[in-house]
Amino acid sequence: MNPDATIPQLFVLLGDPVQHSLSPRMQNAAFAAAKLDAVYVALRTPAQMVGPLMREVAVAGGGGNVTLPHKGVAAQALDEASEAVHATGACNVFWWEEGKGLCGDNTDVEAFRIAAEAVAGSSLLGARVLLLGAGGAARAVVQACLAAGVSQLDVLNRSSERAVQLVNGFGRPSMLNTVDRSGVVGSDRYDLIVNATSLGLREADPLPLEPDVLNTAAVLDLVYGLDETPFVRAARKLALESMDGRRMLVEQAARSYETWFGFEAPRRVMYASVGMQTA
Ligand code: NAP
Repeated sequence: MNPDATIPQLFVLLGDPVQHSLSPRMQNAAFAAAKLDAVYVALRTPAQMVGPLMREVAVAGGGGNVTLPHKGVAAQALDEASEAVHATGACNVFWWEEGKGLCGDNTDVEAFRIAAEAVAGSSLLGARVLLLGAGGAARAVVQACLAAGVSQLDVLNRSSERAVQLVNGFGRPSMLNTVDRSGVVGSDRYDLIVNATSLGLREADPLPLEPDVLNTAAVLDLVYGLDETPFVRAARKLALESMDGRRMLVEQAARSYETWFGFEAPRRVMYASVGMQTA
């Protein structure tokens, strides 16, 4: 064994499933570009192990990300939560700070805003938005939309109780409402429809909303793969502006990297690692 060898800084992605994730490919490419002695690995993790693993890895000088379905559990495990974590109840990035302990943020909120503005072609001020899903990612979408000043945000979810919980969690502001499928059919045209369900992770999944109900100018699918997602394909066939989840993924990852290391992330490398040109 080489006595001069050092252990690389360890960064982890905790979630279940994680095998589809592009985060290890993206972060390891960024670490290599900056010549960092660090490694990023995805760990399929049961809920009860999320808090203990976050703490172990962070105390040792590393950090990481948390993905579905554990962002809420991760938020609970923190000693110091950012405003975005308090607002959403969800944490997707963590690290250690002396004097504070286990710290966490939710970089999905700002990353969603960037992707949404890009696909909508403008800020979301006054926009009419339909949100599909009511899980951890949906909470980041609601927080970003409310902060941007949307005029209408309808939430449609398989489990209507969870949609109600989401709306209640944000204090039921007048522009935020649950909606059922008939409400979507009867609605005026949306500016943006966002898929924050996990439908589309598998090719065999049904679409989160049928093409004949896509009464919108633009579609943002938070789901991603290296190829176009089925929902983006359906939107493109209707000549709608559309984008998959890779831009949001890269932007949340770049902000995670900047939190861990304190210097600018190599975005060009990160975009290229997921098959995209720099935005
Ligand atoms: P989550 O907390 O587990 O929530 C999953 C959501 O999907 C819930 O609304 C759930 O509805 C819905 N759902 C699951 N299976 C369904 C089905 N068969 N039919 C209809 N609805 C179904 O997950 P999450 O963390 O919010 O993540 C959701 C998706 O966003 C994932 O694909 C994730 O990869 C993606 N995401 C992408 C980014 C990015 O940077 N691009 C960031 C975050 C998340 P119920 O409430 O009825 O169960």
